[in-house]
Amino acid sequence: MQFLSDPVTVAKAKSMAKSMDPVTLLHITATPEYAEPIDRTVEIGKPLDPDIRFENDLGNLNRFPLEILLEIVEHLDVASAMDFSMANRMARHVVARSSVTFIKKWAPKLPRDLWLARIPRRFAVWELKEAIRSKHCISCGQLACSIWLVEMVRCCVQCMQHFPANWCLTKAQTTAAFALPLDEIAKIGPIFAIGMREEDVIVNSSRGKDVLGCWVYPIRRTLARAMELYGSREAIKTAAQQIRTGIQDPRFAVVQNSVSVSEFDCDKFRAARLEPLTPAQLYSGEFRHVWALSSIANGNAICAPIVPHAQKQLFIYACRGCVALLRHPSVVHPHLGSFDDETKRWLNIDQSRTANETYFEVCWRPYRMRSIDGMVEHIQTECLGGLSMIYKKRAASGPDATGF
Ligand SMILES: [Zn+2]
Ligand SMILES: [Zn+2]
Repeated sequence: MQFLSDPVTVAKAKSMAKSMDPVTLLHITATPEYAEPIDRTVEIGKPLDPDIRFENDLGNLNRFPLEILLEIVEHLDVASAMDFSMANRMARHVVARSSVTFIKKWAPKLPRDLWLARIPRRFAVWELKEAIRSKHCISCGQLACSIWLVEMVRCCVQCMQHFPANWCLTKAQTTAAFALPLDEIAKIGPIFAIGMREEDVIVNSSRGKDVLGCWVYPIRRTLARAMELYGSREAIKTAAQQIRTGIQDPRFAVVQNSVSVSEFDCDKFRAARLEPLTPAQLYSGEFRHVWALSSIANGNAICAPIVPHAQKQLFIYACRGCVALLRHPSVVHPHLGSFDDETKRWLNIDQSRTANETYFEVCWRPYRMRSIDGMVEHIQTECLGGLSMIYKKRAASGPDATGF
């Protein structure tokens, strides 16, 4: 794709983008984010059937007002709520009034995916609903379409892949890196990494795809537990180093003898950050990518629509223009040169940003999710790829359209 390089043409493309209606603009430049199938036939907030007599059907439970029964259902997990709904007609109506209906409509596959992930923690119905209602990634604060099942929070795919706090370790690695005794580790719910062998969690290898899998422990949760026990990251690090210098337990030998786990890696996990890293930190070489770890995180995530209100979905989009910009010569051949000042200005990237920071900003933009308004503003102010697409589309529809 040829990108606009002349200020006059860019100005024209910008004025086209500004005069264009949002539907056409989105049609040219945006990809709607894929979400799980939604059952739009389910009606939320349907009133109770007036013919059903509440007193006769629920035994002793009929002494509770409906609000309290609903509150009880909200605190059950989905499977228990469904069991309760099958008790009789009245129970079915109570469950139908609860957030179970909300989940059935917007993320019907969520309970099944939770079961498949073998996450021991049972999430209550209200927790699933809150996750679907949330909008922003817990790590970077951007709009996100994926829910990380382990913590039942929104987390974008990029953050799951790149931030060490979202990765997982095996039991031996968890013990060694966080100095947690076995009884403390038992309090952290592990998740099951399907198709991964214990050694493959660190060694990024195609081996182990044919085996059943292993239990792994999310670093974010482990770190929280270790902080409770030791009080500070420095104390965790000191305790972990003491364990490593005086190995008595053969389980630590797995970490000690593995060629892929250097002192460097363990330091990284001990000091796993909860706040997002800047691109410069992330690619400085200090935080090496370990794709096997990120694949565990990704394997336990689902796409779910963002539904801030009971009936209204917030549609989000990825920018095709930013994907196209990945074919810009400065991205394809970064060694040949970086973005010039003019292009950085068009991309709304601060002039003080280094070539490296500019490069990674451009590489990350295709993964950002935006609302309709956010998308329109993005194209009009900072998306050279999107402007090029609009300009070319208009040029193809006739010379008059480009203003020549
Ligand atoms: Zn994120
Ligand atoms: Zn864009």
